[in-house]
Amino acid sequence: MRDTVTVNGIILSSMPVGEADRRLSLVTKELGKISCFARGARKPTSRFVGDARPFNFGTFELLPGRDAYALSNANVTERFEAVTEDLVKSAYGSCFLELTGRISHENTDGGPALALLYYALKALGRGAVDPRLVKTVFEAATLRLEGYLPSFTHCAKCRKELSSAFFYPALMSPLCPDCAGENTLYPLSKSAVYALNFIAGTESARLFSFTLKEEVLKEVKDVIDILLSNMLGKPLKSAELLDVLTSV
Ligand SMILES: [Zn+2]
Repeated sequence: MRDTVTVNGIILSSMPVGEADRRLSLVTKELGKISCFARGARKPTSRFVGDARPFNFGTFELLPGRDAYALSNANVTERFEAVTEDLVKSAYGSCFLELTGRISHENTDGGPALALLYYALKALGRGAVDPRLVKTVFEAATLRLEGYLPSFTHCAKCRKELSSAFFYPALMSPLCPDCAGENTLYPLSKSAVYALNFIAGTESARLFSFTLKEEVLKEVKDVIDILLSNMLGKPLKSAELLDVLTSV
């Protein structure tokens, strides 16, 4: 009898395979991103029918196989219903799942990405913070995890401490007003610089605790959009649906 492996994680995707199986992708604390098969999960009588779904968080027991793990037991403790039962929120959440999948790798420490995703989905479900802000903060924190979030404390050119700034895409960094010269396309007000520094220095559990004025959110979002598309190259598939649902 082979030993099972126990992991804590969130299901990122669940694809039908074969006649009645599902292939799951999870981000886990212990093993980073992993795939596993939930045998028979599409049969209505399967004990995995409600568990083998995206967004589910919990403890999963896996049986190592030659090529992939097989799910042998699931103990789902959080289903994020406030997200999954709302069309727009679930579109936001799907972007979070896909982005986590894009940056996560096998056999790495998945703890930080898992915690970030968990708190972002919690914040999205609670609805106290504008979902656009939750998304921007989540993306900024993901950039931070991957080392793609520049420092917004000092000018990238003269090293002067920043109050307000201008983001300079050619350097993927902020410049002070003196160094920015004509490059005033992406202004960052004092509040925007403060918010970016807060995101850079705050643990996931406390990240989704602030709000921003509309104009400040736009400044931060524009910069995070540039940094994210620079990191990702190919845009997220789930962003298309969100764009459709949220375009006025
Ligand atoms: Zn400068």
